[in-house]
This record gives sequence, C-alpha cells and structure tokens, in this order.
Amino acid sequence: MWQIQNREREEEPPHFRISASLSSMLRKIIHLDMDAFYASIEQRDNPSLKGQPVIVVMGLDAPHRHGAVATASYEARKFGVHSAMPLAQATRLCPQGIFLPVRLEYYRQVSRQVMEIFSQYTSLIEPVSIDESYLDVTENPRDAVDIAIAIKQEIKSRLNLTATAGVGPNKFIAKLASGMHKPDGLTVVRPHQVQEFLRDLPVESILGVGPVTQRKLNSLKIFTIGQLAAFDRTQLKERFGKLGLQFYDFANGIDLRPVVPARSHMQISRETTLGNRTSMDSIQQILASLAEGIEDHLKKEGHCARTVTVKVRLDNQRQMTRSRTVFGKLQHKEELLKIALPLLEKIDLKGKKIRRIGLSVSNLISLKDPYQPQLFD
Ligand SMILES: [Mg+2]
Repeated sequence: MWQIQNREREEEPPHFRISASLSSMLRKIIHLDMDAFYASIEQRDNPSLKGQPVIVVMGLDAPHRHGAVATASYEARKFGVHSAMPLAQATRLCPQGIFLPVRLEYYRQVSRQVMEIFSQYTSLIEPVSIDESYLDVTENPRDAVDIAIAIKQEIKSRLNLTATAGVGPNKFIAKLASGMHKPDGLTVVRPHQVQEFLRDLPVESILGVGPVTQRKLNSLKIFTIGQLAAFDRTQLKERFGKLGLQFYDFANGIDLRPVVPARSHMQISRETTLGNRTSMDSIQQILASLAEGIEDHLKKEGHCARTVTVKVRLDNQRQMTRSRTVFGKLQHKEELLKIALPLLEKIDLKGKKIRRIGLSVSNLISLKDPYQPQLFD
C-alpha cells in the first residue's frame, strides 16, 4: 500500500522531498559486497593460487599462532574455515590450506579502484567496510538492475574480481538481497516483492536481532519475519522499547536510513554570540543569516550537504547540539532552515537563555566531482 502513497509524493519538487520521509521509501539502493575480497585479490595476483584453499590471516607471524582468519577463499570455506576464526582452528580444519599474511594497504588500493567504478553511477556511496558499500542510485535515470549489472561487469573486466549485488528499495532489503546468492550473485527485490521476499526469512536475519532477542521473539511464537510483521506494534514497543518499533518497521520492509557518503568529517559551520535580551524571533533571524553564510560557502565549493546541526550554548554554560540527516541534497538557506528551526525547537530552553548559537552542515557531497578519492583516508 505504501508504494502508491509514495508515487503521489514523488511529484513534489525535490526540496520538499527531504521532509517527506514516505517518499524516501522508494529509493533505488544497491548493496555491493566483494566476494572473499582479500583471498580473491591474492588468487588474482598469483594464478597458482586459483582453485586453492587460500586463507588470509591477520597476525600470521604472531607468536603461538594467535592470528585470526581475515578472509578465506570459497575453496577454504568448504572445510568450515571462515572470517574471525582463530588461526589454530583454521589450521586444524584445513591443514592443506595456503596461509598468507594480510596486505591491508594493497587491499585498500584495490578498494579505491572499486569505489572509482561505483562513482561513475552515483556520488552517494556509503562504504560499510573495505569490501562492502551501499549505493543510492535513485537519481540515476537508469534502472537500478542495469546499474548493478554494469558495475559487476566492470569490476570483472577492469579488476578481474567478482562482486555480489543486492538491489532493493532501501538498505535493509538491499543488504538481505545481496546475502541470498554468493559469490558473483545478483538478487533484485522490487518494491512490490518486498513482502513476499521477507515473509519466510527467519527473524534473526533482521539487523539488530541477536541470539537473546531471537529467543524472546521465539517465545512469542515469532519465528519468521512475516510473523513479526503481523505482530501487534504496540506490544513490540512495550517489550523491546524503541528497538521493537525498528524491528517492526524492518519486518514490514520499511527502512528510512539514508545512504551516508564518506567524507562526513568535513563540515562548514557558522556561529555567533547573542545579546542578553535576544528574543526567540530574532534568534530565528540570526539562524537565517548563519544559514545564508553556509549557503554561500556551499555554493562557492560546489557542495551540497545532507546533515544539519544546531548547536547552542546556554547561560549555564551547557552546550547542546541537535542534528538531522536527510535524503535530499541541501544547499539553499531555506532548505537549511527548514531542518534547523525544528531542531532548535527540540532543545529544552525552560528557564534558560541562549548565549551562543551555531549552525553547521556536514556529510558534504561534491556536485563538481562525483569521485571521492579520499574515501578511506
Ligand atoms: Mg565480502
């Protein structure tokens, strides 16, 4: 039902979309996961390792064989070897394994080459780890599946490596999808297929459902995501708090988390000290002039932002900040204020006065150069 609501909202101009969280459900998200990344790189570079049980180990030279498996090739996984397993155990399970030391700096270089391929399709790339990223390709007019296929092909032809992709309307679904068929897989879940896709999956495939929560859910006769989706929302909230609502949303295929690009350390900020008798109205005007300064700066640099932060210092010297990250690209003063003013209202000012106020934006996206070379620096 929600797909229809979203289609109506899609007609709205882009700067309205940032606050219309419903429309952001209909995004095009790709989760890309490199297959046995470290081991595949080693096999690629040394053909004699092809088809062999290659086990890349963190701390291979550590005394008493205290290392741990970083990545096992698919050949080694057949023996039960997997990441994070102690080296001693891996050696027992797979004595014929070829154990290699981690070459992290080199893998990072390869990872940057992968990112370079991604950046041809979108600037919204969120690396989760060295071999795993979310891409938001909503604004790319091409079909998300075509993009995923093109990316996989390019990784194969340019880097001689394989990746597994999951395509879905949000991060939760895209990640679950990519986990379905590995290696070299592609799983697509269109918005109308979400419910069916989730229905029979075990509840523990939901992000945040660990063994303890799983036992609790099982005791409520909830074993599948479908059963969780049909469960009473209020009861879930009572039993699991805020997390219960999150589980409920996920179970119903709803995930509003934005794809947050790297570079989040960069920010632009403006702040000012207030007089003794500054009224709330003039505080809003001051915020508007701070927003104007930020808009100028963003325009000059050719950047947009996704996160807005309001910071206040009160007359008791306490400092408080409130932030919000949105799906759209913010640049204009009005867009910034639309986020900033409600954030300011969230700050409890009872009996206190604001001494100093600041506005900043972060999660910057370059409009000039979609490629972000410092992704892992
Ligand atoms: Mg991987």
